[in-house]
Amino acid sequence: MGNAPRLISVARAKRFVAENVSPLPAERIMLDDALHRVLAENVRSDVDAPPFDKAMMDGYAVRSADLTRVDSATSATGCVLRVVGQLPAGHLPAAGVGAGDAMQINTGAPLPDGADSVVRVEDTEPTSDGMAVAIKTPGREGDHVERRGAYSKAGHVVLGAGTRLFAHQIAAAASAGAAQLSVYRQPRVALLVTGDELIDVNDRPTGAQIRNSNGPMLDALVRGLHARPVNLGVTGDDPQTLATQIESGLESDVLCISGGVSMGAFDFVPKVLAGLGVRVVFKKIALKPGKPTLFGVAESGTRVFGLPGNPVGCFVAFWLLVRDALAVLEGRSEIRPIWRARLDGPLPATGDRECYLPCQIEQPPNGDRVAKSITWRGSGDSLGFARANGLIVRPVRAPASQDGDRVEIIPIQPW
Ligand code: AMP
Ligand code: MG
Repeated sequence: MGNAPRLISVARAKRFVAENVSPLPAERIMLDDALHRVLAENVRSDVDAPPFDKAMMDGYAVRSADLTRVDSATSATGCVLRVVGQLPAGHLPAAGVGAGDAMQINTGAPLPDGADSVVRVEDTEPTSDGMAVAIKTPGREGDHVERRGAYSKAGHVVLGAGTRLFAHQIAAAASAGAAQLSVYRQPRVALLVTGDELIDVNDRPTGAQIRNSNGPMLDALVRGLHARPVNLGVTGDDPQTLATQIESGLESDVLCISGGVSMGAFDFVPKVLAGLGVRVVFKKIALKPGKPTLFGVAESGTRVFGLPGNPVGCFVAFWLLVRDALAVLEGRSEIRPIWRARLDGPLPATGDRECYLPCQIEQPPNGDRVAKSITWRGSGDSLGFARANGLIVRPVRAPASQDGDRVEIIPIQPW
């Protein structure tokens, strides 16, 4: 593939990234370590689920044929059954249930032979000697019973490849007997922050210094997507040290470089990358904020993202491009939830770049979702951006929007 034109659309940039990423190899892990990992293979159950006909309520295991004598109109206790035993969960019945019999049963216990339904304890009245029980409500075959294999048969797929495992899927894997799982390897994401002006959070800026906020932000973004950050620290704007650090970053699956991609005399990143044999696919996107965003592929296969130094541009470019790449590397398809909201307040017309405006999304209990753009002072304003929980998407050359218009939004934070 040849190099792309200088300023490409966001959609085109996303396509270029998608064309250049594919899932990482799979690995086997223990179920205990599986939270947030993505299945590389289907999980099949090794047993029927449930493994036996199972009582779903505390009550009495009965033959439904015996219940026809209950008068549903009056709930008259026309049906009195003999109590023939008691069956807690985890125990096998000592005997079956014959005609006219009822066996006390607890939720989770296997249905005794002969019984075909369970009457809930609240629908019964034991006789004073406890030897018999009156049934107060009519019942039918199968009431409060789950048949063996009703959830899934042995050998059937219970979790599909590509599923990201949260607590409830881990429960399904446990039920299915999957003590080990085949999952995609988590992407290792090297993070390299550039800029002579940058100092650590523990230091106090003097003179021309500012604190490095992109480093901690990128680390958090990577962790939030369940990938593994490899922090390479901060490097000054010097081609030699940059080359050394980038080379070590090319050992990871993805390398994100913050800063140094713009037009300044000290923005050495594109040149250094080219010198290290990285095929640069694009260098600039029609994106605001986030124009100086670079994407390339190294000979090692490492995908390289050069992200803007400006904190909001850095976030937006990561959110639009790196996030999709990490999803695909981990065996997921790209994530693009499109939400809509009612705009609170007007917005100006846009120019030749797609705009992503930090906003506050609110969801009133009985109304339309609302997006209100926050007050911020542009792509360098990391503190204003901290008030946002979403982005309003504005297409290229869109006319001004009015209060109440429908707009597309992207949530950037879980509620
Ligand atoms: P650059 O992309 O290197 O030209 O940087 C653009 C702007 O972002 C400059 O004002 C930088 O000081 C600022 N900047 C660059 N890197 C960071 C960082 N890691 N944390 C906060 N601001 C940064
Ligand atoms: Mg810089």
